[in-house]
Amino acid sequence: MAQHFLLSAAARTLSLKAIYKAGEAAAHETFCKMRWPETDGEAVCPECGCFETYKITTRRKFKCKACLRQFSVTSGTIFASRKMAFVDLLAAIIITVNAAKGVSMVQLSRDLDCQYKTAFVLAHKLREAMALEVHTGEILKGHVEVDGAYFGGHIRPANVKADRVDRRKKEHQNGRRRVVVVMRERLGRTLPVVTMAEAEGVALVNENVDRMATLSADEASHWDMLHAGWEVDRVNHSEVYSDHGKHTNWAESYFSRLRRMVVGQHHHVSPRYLHQYATQAAWLEDKRRESNGVLAHGLVANAMGCPVSRAWKGYWQRSA
Ligand SMILES: [Zn+2]
Repeated sequence: MAQHFLLSAAARTLSLKAIYKAGEAAAHETFCKMRWPETDGEAVCPECGCFETYKITTRRKFKCKACLRQFSVTSGTIFASRKMAFVDLLAAIIITVNAAKGVSMVQLSRDLDCQYKTAFVLAHKLREAMALEVHTGEILKGHVEVDGAYFGGHIRPANVKADRVDRRKKEHQNGRRRVVVVMRERLGRTLPVVTMAEAEGVALVNENVDRMATLSADEASHWDMLHAGWEVDRVNHSEVYSDHGKHTNWAESYFSRLRRMVVGQHHHVSPRYLHQYATQAAWLEDKRRESNGVLAHGLVANAMGCPVSRAWKGYWQRSA
């Protein structure tokens, strides 16, 4: 029987052990190489683009010879004004990419021995960096499956049976439930969007799927509208999961990962952050056959190309 990819040596090319053994200088160099790949890690002034810089080695900073501005490898990126050591940052990244179902921020704070607030913002910044590869704005092509699933807004049933209500009715819900609609290319990209109702998925398909694509959807009646624009395979899940190749199993695999992430790691998700978890699950799903070294370096490179975060920079200062 074929071995599962994650059990193979090819899946493990970077480890926490290696990161800490190599030390802070090596971690800093990794960030430099990802930030400035065109000069193989030699600093380039983010202000004027000058290649000539002084190195202020003691503080791991640079000073531009042309405009005299001081900057660091993370200036102007999502990790701007970071206080964490580069080894710890790299450790956070390897822990994140190793976790196939994500990792809770409490667990990350314990692994890194940092405050919960630090881990919370760091994890969300990494998700923002992942989003660059998930929400690319490119149209989905080929065979695309579309499906929706509910997350959040759980209502606990009352203790005494006589007090219990019909939790399916709108008046008994708390307004925190959302639908994740996913559009997923077979053998390709996964694009999740958080909506209020699954029927909004029709408009999302109109925006994001190529007119020449073939679609797959389940029996839900709102997908009937898709037949006007596309060839659509339908599968009735109340009868069968796969009907001679007609199925939405790629979409279901994605939901399986996101469901386990929410139930097993985050336990509760606020509608405010659901899109971030949905993005992370899509990123992990699309890169499930990459080694952890490739994933970690890719994530550093994304983070270095990701501008200062509007949502997460100074998050706790604002909310305090
Ligand atoms: Zn400059």
